[in-house]
Amino acid sequence: MKKQAILFFICIVCFVAIILLATTEPKELTQDFVENSTPTPTANVIGDPTPTPTDVPTSTPTAAPNLDPYKAERDTMLAKIDKMIAQYMYDEAIAEIQAKPHLANSETDARIQKANDLKSSLVKYDGKLYHIFFHSLVVYPELAFDYDSDHYTYWDYMATVTEFKRILPLLYEAGYVLFDYDYIVEFDANGKATYKDIYLPAGKKPVIISFDDVNYYEYMKDDGFADCLAINEKGDLVNKITRPDGTVEYSYEADGMPILNTFVDQYPDFSYKGAKGIVALTGYEGAFGYNYTKMSGAEKDAAIAECKRIADKLKADGWKIACHSYTHKSSFTTETITAPEIAVDNTRWLNEVGQIVGETNLYISPFGAYFTDARRDEWVKSGFTIIMPVYYIQDYYKGSTLMVHNRCNIDGITMVNHPERLTEFFDASKVVDEKRPAR
Ligand SMILES: [Zn+2]
Repeated sequence: MKKQAILFFICIVCFVAIILLATTEPKELTQDFVENSTPTPTANVIGDPTPTPTDVPTSTPTAAPNLDPYKAERDTMLAKIDKMIAQYMYDEAIAEIQAKPHLANSETDARIQKANDLKSSLVKYDGKLYHIFFHSLVVYPELAFDYDSDHYTYWDYMATVTEFKRILPLLYEAGYVLFDYDYIVEFDANGKATYKDIYLPAGKKPVIISFDDVNYYEYMKDDGFADCLAINEKGDLVNKITRPDGTVEYSYEADGMPILNTFVDQYPDFSYKGAKGIVALTGYEGAFGYNYTKMSGAEKDAAIAECKRIADKLKADGWKIACHSYTHKSSFTTETITAPEIAVDNTRWLNEVGQIVGETNLYISPFGAYFTDARRDEWVKSGFTIIMPVYYIQDYYKGSTLMVHNRCNIDGITMVNHPERLTEFFDASKVVDEKRPAR
């Protein structure tokens, strides 16, 4: 009987507890619904299907930033601003922020402060202007270096993709910044040159990179180079390349331009105001791997249209295009070419390649040729006011109507035979491709 009495007592206590809980719980739930301002459950509890305006909370919810109608627009702008600041575009970044006052907040104020601080820390650059250059890169060394008739040409004058990809981070770590002649010299309508002061963060050095003969000549087919430049379905610049097994690939890693674009995406401060480099073209086999000189009709029109699209894309990505002569005749290197012959060569290039790629004042001379007589005048008369020969001493001449800037070749000759010429840039022993055979 005692046991039964105790059990009965426990049951009574439990029952009372349940009743108490059951009466308090709905109140808490109702409170929750109101706070969350979800009308349906509130209506269920209150029994009124149409919530009155008093059901809507008057206090601002704690999740206020979600209500900022400009957050997405500001975030997009800030990502762009951060890249501009990384690429030394301080005034441009501030102007961009100030052009959109409706986005102003503490985050945009901090960017303006940062841009002003970095701008005031710039120092006038009084060192050398550097210019290095490459040819098309060897993608498959086993095809380029196969001891056929072109083996030594490629070995002497070309670098491989592996070598180029090792060089970029070394240049970056050494403080080099990709630069553009636009920030060095300006020519007025009469052709008079004005040279500009360069301001960079302390320790940074301006370098211009160029690529010669971006024509993907027919003699290079089946020798381990890309076939041509192209634009992929994402709108990016790539190379079309035929693999050794005969299959075709569109690659970001088959020549210098796409590889450099990718590197600058990863390290935006490697580029001064978005500068990339210079692509030099001859004309006798078309441009960019499209030999329209051998085509006719619709096929030729399509090839030229594709070259225009590639030229526009290069320029939009920060590249410049240079004349590398139309013919690349050997009389440039034997110095037997005459001034009238240079005039004819210039006109052919301007009328064919120039029509496709647009105006340029850049002339990368074939074989690194340079003249100081009437032949040089022909270049200037044709509008080529920046002449870039080849010499490893990084010197330049600031003329009143033309600028001349030596370029240093990066290839087998310098990396293996004359690594001392490259010590300002990188340690060549860390760069040379293991697949490059002994000379
Ligand atoms: Zn050349």
